[in-house]
Amino acid sequence: MSKPNVALIGLGIMGSGMAGRLLTSGFPLTIYNRNREKTVSFEKAGAFVAASPREAASRAQIILSMVADDSASRSVWLGEDGALAGAAQDSVLIESSTLSVAWVKELHAAATRHGCRFLDAPVTGTKPHAASGELLFLVGGSGDTLNAAKPIFAVLGRDIMHLGPVGSGALMKLINNFLCGVEAASFAEGLALIDAGGLDRNKAVSILTGGAPGSGIMKRMSERVAAEDFTPNFNLRWMAKDLSYALHTGSESGVQMQTAGAALAVFERAIEQGLGDEDFSAVAKAAEGNHQQRPRTGT
Ligand code: NAP
Repeated sequence: MSKPNVALIGLGIMGSGMAGRLLTSGFPLTIYNRNREKTVSFEKAGAFVAASPREAASRAQIILSMVADDSASRSVWLGEDGALAGAAQDSVLIESSTLSVAWVKELHAAATRHGCRFLDAPVTGTKPHAASGELLFLVGGSGDTLNAAKPIFAVLGRDIMHLGPVGSGALMKLINNFLCGVEAASFAEGLALIDAGGLDRNKAVSILTGGAPGSGIMKRMSERVAAEDFTPNFNLRWMAKDLSYALHTGSESGVQMQTAGAALAVFERAIEQGLGDEDFSAVAKAAEGNHQQRPRTGT
């Protein structure tokens, strides 16, 4: 069976790994990225570079977006040059960015008015999983639309979880990242307390990572902190974005999310310190800075 034409919008850390997978798997691929420099290597590898999301969508049966946040998603899908304006009726639109539930539902309504099928399909996994096709897709939308998108998910992901109607994938992803953000922020504060109290950092961290608190996030973060390597796999500012969307979703649903608010404050402090474009694990540096800048009492 011939492979469907695919358009991929957004060639950041995640989108570029996904583009590589689609190309090596033989999908006819059109790409669009706001900053055109990021398209060069994929053009050499056989992708067609579109001048706008609209042009990209007009060349594809399946249109996949992997951009930063609600505002980026809005700007690539809507408007005169947006992907919706170029999408053929009945094409399959997949929004894989981590976004607010409210925006995903609004986008679904716009897609439906346009006669397109729509899935929200955010992912778990990070840079290496995007490049190796080992993402987990968290999908909201109809089973029929999901079936139409399966050839894409099969090369990009290790598994698909169908969670319910549109918005369910976005909600699940926000809950996932809310927990990750809270764990990362509390580990950062734990590290600051280890240092402030004069404990041996290596011993203390091995007790935590090997014990009950030792989550995947804590293990990943402790490796980055030990190596002092904060090259981004997942930008710190996007963790703050996810915490803030989780907080809003909680408030829309009447659920108090006090730990999300506290963790967001820790990440916002890190962004104020200029760490937004580093890996999320750099939040440890902000907590450390907080301890060092503590006003001293007495003379
Ligand atoms: P990234 O490297 O920062 O890339 C962001 C992408 O969005 C770039 O292509 C960027 O274009 C585009 N963009 C930003 N603002 C835009 C705008 N106003 N108009 C058009 N395009 C815009 O981010 P990423 O790590 O690939 O993450 C992409 C999405 O996946 C985010 O929603 C993130 O939360 C989610 N996610 C990330 C990870 C991870 O580990 N990295 C894991 C799961 C989910 P330019 O190149 O022109 O700036």
